[in-house]
Amino acid sequence: MPLILAVSATGLMALIVMQLIWMRHSWQLSEQIFSQRVSMALCSSIESYQDGTWCAGDKCTIRNKTQGLGMKEAAILPVNMVDKPEFRSVLDKSLMFYQIDLNYVLNLSAEKKCGPDSYQTTVFLPELGGKEAYLGISFPDKQKFLLGGMNLMVLTSALILVFITVVLLFVNWALVKQRRLLKTNVDFFNNMAHEFRTPLSNIRLAVSMLVRKNEGLKDNPLVEVVRLENTRLLEEVERVLHLAKTESGDYALEKEVIDLKGLLQSALKSLTLVVADRGATITLEEIPEDLQVSGDRQHLCNVFRNLLDNALKYTRELPLIRIFARPEAQGVVIVIQDNGIGIPLAQREMIFEKFQRVHQGNQHDRKGFGLGLAYVKNMIELHKGSVRVLSEENRGSRFEVYLPTV
Ligand code: ADP
Repeated sequence: MPLILAVSATGLMALIVMQLIWMRHSWQLSEQIFSQRVSMALCSSIESYQDGTWCAGDKCTIRNKTQGLGMKEAAILPVNMVDKPEFRSVLDKSLMFYQIDLNYVLNLSAEKKCGPDSYQTTVFLPELGGKEAYLGISFPDKQKFLLGGMNLMVLTSALILVFITVVLLFVNWALVKQRRLLKTNVDFFNNMAHEFRTPLSNIRLAVSMLVRKNEGLKDNPLVEVVRLENTRLLEEVERVLHLAKTESGDYALEKEVIDLKGLLQSALKSLTLVVADRGATITLEEIPEDLQVSGDRQHLCNVFRNLLDNALKYTRELPLIRIFARPEAQGVVIVIQDNGIGIPLAQREMIFEKFQRVHQGNQHDRKGFGLGLAYVKNMIELHKGSVRVLSEENRGSRFEVYLPTV
């Protein structure tokens, strides 16, 4: 979560910096355009005021007398030209033509003066013996004028930035809220599972005592239903609690060296009743006796039991299940292959996440909470192994579990 916040804050900062750079760039562009317009207005007014004038043009650049149009075409201007109303009226018109509707200050000086808001052009004054002089114009309100032209851009940029900031803040807030909600739900679920364990164990104990005291109840189908459903619920509760423990990191495996063949056989044995009930055929193919893994017997047995249980559960016809093992570099791959309904490609990764089940329309005959494979993945990873699934829809699935051998 802090990562998402940091990434979005960095993105926002980058956006603001980019926006500022663009604004600065367009400010410089506006200044350049303004400067060109002023130069053109100044030149054209001098030219129209007195024929044969040449103009130095650019802001604060002075042409050498020998450059440009040459001395004979230089402007012969009176020294008091800046105060002449005729010149001012020509200049006003020219400025208006170039869309510069601003107050200005004119001055004539013998020195070149450069400033951000002043523009100069070279003129020749007979009074000064044909010497160069500089006709300058400055605009006290230039900044305001240019800013006015950029108003729309600044406003839209600010609005877009505010909008993006609000959206990002909202998304982050929603994420934090969702996360908190998820945590609350998971905590509630875990607490509930914890609270269910004791009554479910008590029910199991009570049923066994009842059957022991009353021999006649041993083959009673109703008692069998209670026993089966109780076992199913207890298993789910145990899965929730194991998952919660592995996720919180508060988990210690009771490791021992386990014979793989014996492990698979005991997983199979625990499903004898279900296998018979489903009319399934399960073949445990030849597995070398010396294939041994180091792990928690109880949990590894649960892992294969879960995979086999799924293979039995997600099959429409009579289940045909193959179990075999293939030695690999420093380990072994245990394969459980069924002829079941298969898993659509898009959902193959997601089934290993908690509470995820393949959507099966309105079919509710295959019960489950979507916890079995999450438990399998967690457990196998705790044993430094991996699990993957290959599947073809309506043809079957093949779960491959890799475990390091000893
Ligand atoms: P549950 O079986 O309780 O729903 P799991 O985590 O064991 O939970 O399985 C998740 C989902 O993966 C199942 O709901 C099912 O849709 C799909 N699935 C698991 N194993 C198989 C399989 N052998 N064949 C087809 N689909 C399977």
